Parts: sequence; C-alpha cells; structure tokens
Amino acid sequence: MKDSFNREIDYIRLSVTDRCDLRCTYCMPATGMCFLKKEEVLSLEEILFLVENLAAQGIKKVKITGGEPLTRKDTIPLIKAIKAIQGIEKVTLTTNGIQLDKYASALKTAGLDGINISIDTLDPDEFRKITRVGELERVLNGLRKAVAVELPNIKVNTVARGELTAKEICTIAKFAKESPIHVRFIELMPIGLGKGCPGKTQEELISVLQDNYGVLTPFEQRLGNGPASYFSIPHFKGKIGFISALGHCFCAECDRIRFTADGSLKTCLHMEDGCNVKEALRTENKELLLEQVFTAIQQKPEKHHFLENQGDSRLMSQIGG
Ligand code: SAM
Ligand code: SF4
Repeated sequence: MKDSFNREIDYIRLSVTDRCDLRCTYCMPATGMCFLKKEEVLSLEEILFLVENLAAQGIKKVKITGGEPLTRKDTIPLIKAIKAIQGIEKVTLTTNGIQLDKYASALKTAGLDGINISIDTLDPDEFRKITRVGELERVLNGLRKAVAVELPNIKVNTVARGELTAKEICTIAKFAKESPIHVRFIELMPIGLGKGCPGKTQEELISVLQDNYGVLTPFEQRLGNGPASYFSIPHFKGKIGFISALGHCFCAECDRIRFTADGSLKTCLHMEDGCNVKEALRTENKELLLEQVFTAIQQKPEKHHFLENQGDSRLMSQIGG
C-alpha cells in the first residue's frame, strides 16, 4: 500500500487496550480516567481479521502497544496468532515492564521478535514520582527475565523529560554500555498531558553523553522498525538511539498507520484523522475494511504539525504511543 507521497505502508501499530497499571504524569491523569467499555475494545478475533486482511495488502510488521498491553489477558495468544499470519515478518511489543517478569517466557514462546521496555529513570523514588504507583525493581526484574529467556531485540525507551539529570542520562545509557541493549531517548511530544511538559533535546542529550563517554558516531544501519537515529559509542555493546519527532522530523520515511483499541484508524500520531473500522471488523466486511484503509492511507498527511496546532485531543494511552 502506498500513500499519496509514495511512502510504502508496511507497518501497523495496534493499541490493544487503553488501560494501564501505571499513571505516568506525562501520559495519564492520576484519577478520573474514563476507560473504554469491554465491548468497545476490539476482540482477539477482530484484531486477527484486521491483521490478516492487511497482511494480504503488504503489511509486514506489527507493534503491540497500549495503554499497557500486558494488562490485557489475551495479549500473548494474540501475539502468537499474529505471528502465524502469512506475510507478517515481525511482531514486537512496547511495555512498561511491570508484569514482564511473569510473561517474558511466554512471550518468547509466542515468538515475539522484539520488545521495547519503557524506563524513564533508574532512581526508585523518581520512578515512583513519574509513574505515581510504579516499583522500579519490578521493571528491572522484568528486564533481567527478558535477557535470561533470550527475548530478541530488547530495547530500553526513555522519555527525554526536562528533569532528566546528566547523572540519570548516563546511568540509563549504561544499559547499552554493559549489554547489547539499545537505549533510545524519545523526545517528549505535545500529546495529551505531554503538552506543556518540558523536554530535553537530542543535542542536549548527545552533549551530556559525549562529555561522559566519548564521541557518538552515527550508525547508518537500520535497527528495528522505527524512526530512531542510532549512534555508536566506543566500548558500548548496544547503540544509543534518538526518536525526535519534532527536532529531527522523520515523516518523509513514515511507513506506518495506527489503530486504537476501539478500532479508530490513525494515519499520523499527531492528528485526529482516519475513521473507525470496528463495524467492518465486527461484520467481517472485508470490502468495507479495505475501502476505509485505502481511503485513509490516501489522506495520510505529508507530515505532523506538532509545532503549528494542538492535534488529537486524546491522551497518549488512548492513542497507543
Ligand atoms: N504502556 C506502554 C509503555 O509505557 O511502554 C506502552 C504504551 S506508552 C503510551 C508507549 C510509549 O510512549 C512509552 O515509552 C511512553 O513513555 C511514551 N510516551 C507517552 N507519552 C509520551 C509523550 N507525550 N511524548 C513522548 N513519549 C510519550
Ligand atoms: Fe501507562 Fe505507558 Fe502511559 Fe505510562 S506511558 S501511563 S506505562 S501507557
């Protein structure tokens, strides 16, 4: 499938729930969330109908996200079933890692091709402050378990909050120094509660890392699905990546569309666009589904407009980051 800017769309990001067991300050409010009702959320069968039909149109990569995907009971059977769909080459997961200790083995058996674990700080008190309810040790246990069961392509994602200290930046980067884990710093995006939150730029982070670890050399090879630009640091086993949607716009290479947990199709993270495919999935109406997807892809914007307007009014947990 190609959009009107000749970009090949071969990647879908599927949010499987809007619920979460954390309440990160830049993502969800402490209280008062209004979650989707169970019957509004796409079922396993509906998601499989979606992926099967899109795989037949050239979708090759699937990311499972949320909310927190490991709070949904059938996420692992879902991953296993998506892996079995003809044409799907890679299924990966983004998680906060809170329940990873429990599920790492099953994810490995399900055939997961890669996992991104979000860790914003290695200071337990700061972690509790950011996530409001989270215990850092549980996430670290999950990460250790993922390494122990040899889950492939483990990456750590850190939101580049304005409060990140030089010490924290270096401690998090150490994951990549000591093991072949890639650490990616994600620029804070003005979405939901992220609007108005201060962030650090890629340049500020690079400067801290260079002061402490030596020169960062661009690593040209593509790693994983995404828009991260990677750098090597001498004596580091993993790479350091930056996902900087605002500072280093990567829209020209965008290869993805997204579906929220209730079937809303989004062709750009920033924009409230697309349509809802739930009815087409519920009635197994393949023609309607493909018509909706093709039309949306033709209307996929050339680039985001984060700097010019407010965009989607939903929270990141409701969109699927
Ligand atoms: N719960 C899972 C997790 O935290 O990894 C998956 C969903 S979460 C919305 C996906 C990613 O989006 C996380 O790495 C999170 O830190 C990031 N995120 C949330 N809000 C953001 C924002 N405003 N700007 C940049 N990244 C954000
Ligand atoms: Fe939950 Fe992930 Fe949002 Fe944090 S960033 S509240 S873990 S969905």
